[in-house]
Amino acid sequence: MSAFDDTKHTIEKAEQILYKTYNRFPVLFDHGKGVFLYDTEGKEYLDFGAGIAVCGLGYNDPEYTAALENQAGKLLHISNLFYNRPAIDAGEKLLAASQMDRVFFTNSGTEAIEGALKIAKRYAYNRDGHGGHEIIAMKHSFHGRSLGALSVTGNDHYQEPFAPLLPGIRFAEFNDLDSVKALINENTIAVIMETIQGEGGIYPATEEFLKGVRALCDEHDMLLILDEIQCGMGRSGEMFAWQGYGVKPDVMTVAKALGNGVPIGAFLASGRAATAMVPGDHGTTYGGNPLVCAAADKVLEIFETREIVAHVRQVGAYLWKKLDEFAEKHDCVTDHRGKGLIQGLEFDRPVAPIVSKALLENQLVLISAGANIIRFVPPLVITEEDVDWMIEKLEKSL
Ligand SMILES: *Cc1c(COP(=O)(O)O)cnc(C)c1O
Repeated sequence: MSAFDDTKHTIEKAEQILYKTYNRFPVLFDHGKGVFLYDTEGKEYLDFGAGIAVCGLGYNDPEYTAALENQAGKLLHISNLFYNRPAIDAGEKLLAASQMDRVFFTNSGTEAIEGALKIAKRYAYNRDGHGGHEIIAMKHSFHGRSLGALSVTGNDHYQEPFAPLLPGIRFAEFNDLDSVKALINENTIAVIMETIQGEGGIYPATEEFLKGVRALCDEHDMLLILDEIQCGMGRSGEMFAWQGYGVKPDVMTVAKALGNGVPIGAFLASGRAATAMVPGDHGTTYGGNPLVCAAADKVLEIFETREIVAHVRQVGAYLWKKLDEFAEKHDCVTDHRGKGLIQGLEFDRPVAPIVSKALLENQLVLISAGANIIRFVPPLVITEEDVDWMIEKLEKSL
C-alpha cells in the first residue's frame, strides 16, 4: 500500500473508531524535530500551533527526551500516598518561578481549574461556615470541558447542552471593571479569569482591569484565580503573564506547556488560599506522578538554562512587527492582538478554518481561535527566520 493510501485508510478508520467530538484536519503526523512536524508521507510542516500551545520546546528535544527516557526506566507511578522526588523538584522550581506558596499537580488544565474552584469554595466555607457562594467569571472565557470548568466558561454554545451546571456563577465583561463591580454581593468569593483570553480570541487583560479586579478582591475578601494554562510558561514574554502587570493571584492554574507534551497541569496557591484545603479534600491517582514531573522538572530547568523567556520577548517582538506589516497590507485583517508568542489576527469574515486548511496544504500548521481569528502560538524556540518563512507561506495561502 502506498503511503498516501495508508494515510487515507488510517484516517477513515479513525472516523469509525474515535468518539466524534472533533472535526480533524486530514493529516497524520508521524514525528517532529525542532519546530517541524513530519507526516506519514514524509512531508515537512512548519509548526505555529505547538499542539495548542503545549510543545514550547518544540519536538524531540534531546535533553528533554533523555530526561523522560531516564525516568521511564526508573519509576512511572507510585501514587500520592508516597513522596516522589521529581514532583518535589518540579514543584520547587514552579514555586520559585511564580513566588506562590503551594502547588498541586493535576493531569490536565481542566482539572487544575476544578482544584482552583474547590480552593475558593473551601476558603469561603472555612470563613463563613456554610456554602452557597458565588463566583464571577468572564464572558468569552475558556477554562476547560469538565463540568466545573465548563460552568465558568463563558460560552453558551459549549454550556447549553450540559445544563444545569454549577450554580452561583455570574459572568462579567472581560476588561470592563464596572461589569465586575456590578456582580459583587456578600456571597461572592472569587473572580476567575485568563490573564490573556486564549480560545476567546487572544485578548490580553488591560492593566487597569487586572489591577482593578485585584483591588476588588482585596476589598471584598475574594480570591483572584488567574488561569495561565495557555498564556503562562513564558508564552507572553513573562514566565507567567500576570508578572507583567504587577499583580499577584491567590490561585493560579497552569498546564499546556508545563510538560511539553506529557499530560501535566497544576494549581498553585499563595497566602490565605494556600492553606484552605486540608487532607481528604482533594486528590488524584495519576496527578504529579514521577514520569510527568520529571518532564516538567526538565522543562523548568531548560527554561532557565536556555533563557527561554528572554528569547520569547525577542522573537515575539519580531513576530509582532511582521504581523503588523501583514495586517497593514491586507484590508481583510481588522485587528492584531496579543503578547510575546501568543498573538492573533482577526479577519472581517469567518475565514479562520479555511485559512488553517489552506496553510496546511502549504505545509504550515496554524490554528484558529474562533471563526474570525488566526492564532499564533508556535513553539517558544522558533527563530526570526521561522517567522519570515511563516509570513511567506501566509501570504501565499491568502
Ligand atoms: C486549554 C485550556 C484549558 C483546558 O486545559 P485542558 O488540558 O484541555 O483540560 C483551560 N484554560 C485555558 C486558558 C486553556 O487554554
